[in-house]
Amino acid sequence: MEILYNEPLKLHTTFRVGGECKRFIFADCEEGCGVIRDCREREEPFFLFGKGSNLLVSDRGFPGTVLSFLPKDPVLLDRDRLRVSAGTTLAAAASFAADHGLSGLECLHGIPGTMGGAAVMNAGAYGSELKDVFAEGEVLTKEGEIRVISAEEMDFSYRSSSLEREENILLSAVLQLEKKDAVLIRDRMKELSARRREKQPLELPSAGSTFRRPEGYFAGKLIEEAGMKGFSIGGAAVSEKHAGFIVNYNNATAEEIYRLICKVQEEVYRTSGVTLKCEVKMLGEF
Ligand SMILES: Cc1cc2nc3c(=O)[nH]c(=O)nc-3n(C[C@H](O)[C@H](O)[C@H](O)COP(=O)(O)OP(=O)(O)OC[C@H]3O[C@@H](n4cnc5c(N)ncnc54)[C@H](O)[C@@H]3O)c2cc1C
Repeated sequence: MEILYNEPLKLHTTFRVGGECKRFIFADCEEGCGVIRDCREREEPFFLFGKGSNLLVSDRGFPGTVLSFLPKDPVLLDRDRLRVSAGTTLAAAASFAADHGLSGLECLHGIPGTMGGAAVMNAGAYGSELKDVFAEGEVLTKEGEIRVISAEEMDFSYRSSSLEREENILLSAVLQLEKKDAVLIRDRMKELSARRREKQPLELPSAGSTFRRPEGYFAGKLIEEAGMKGFSIGGAAVSEKHAGFIVNYNNATAEEIYRLICKVQEEVYRTSGVTLKCEVKMLGEF
């Protein structure tokens, strides 16, 4: 276990913003569960980080403990089932699966988060979502018990699962994959990586798509039609490459990103009548 005091959270978010937390702890699942139970008992503010790739953390930081689970090598349970721990990245899980000729994670490979963060969000891309392969999960419940929950209990839907509602913390997931030629799996991963590089502003800090897809529309298109592509506040801008992304192009503060999010929502509503909801989660005071 590693403990960092007064740690700047901007070092742990893909937006590269966020003030300090009281202590930042890296721990394996067992020690991490101890930390969580302890914080809950003492009613100390506590937050779980994955890779910080879907978070906007306030410049004022977070007045408590932040925990991040350490990654672990995935484990092959039988010929086509994989156990992936919560702190392991989707990229590492997909790569391990490819090495073992297991298909199902190709579309999720380029999402820069952990298994834990992906399960909360039912992360998805290119027509595939985590729910397609999720068989069961081991969770720490809000009562402090460890139990196995089924895919049905996860109640996956678009960018949502029961984890957050039930205050369950994912410790690991069992994924049901499919045997396939490893070369074909790798080829598909390469093709999708190239598509991401071409369409998304991966060269600048961001948290991916800022807004949820409104039913019947595409957020990026609505933002473009509202004339907001390239619009900036301080060091934060609506990406020129993909209007669905807000990027930190020049040492933006969290406050500037937040103000830009509000401005985009306002302009899209004014021009189209559609309310854009944030996909990115906020932590701290804004
Ligand atoms: C360049 C870029 C591209 C992206 N592309 C996509 C994409 O194609 N599709 C997509 O869906 N997303 C995409 N994202 C967004 C993001 O990567 C995903 O939402 C990802 O699943 C978040 O995982 P994380 O580990 O970073 O979680 P974090 O951002 O660290 O945390 C997100 C939430 O999950 C909670 N959490 C984390 N771990 C656990 C756990 N073990 N148990 C319970 N709760 C937990 C946190 O408390 C927080 O509320 C992209 C982001 C970037 C920067």
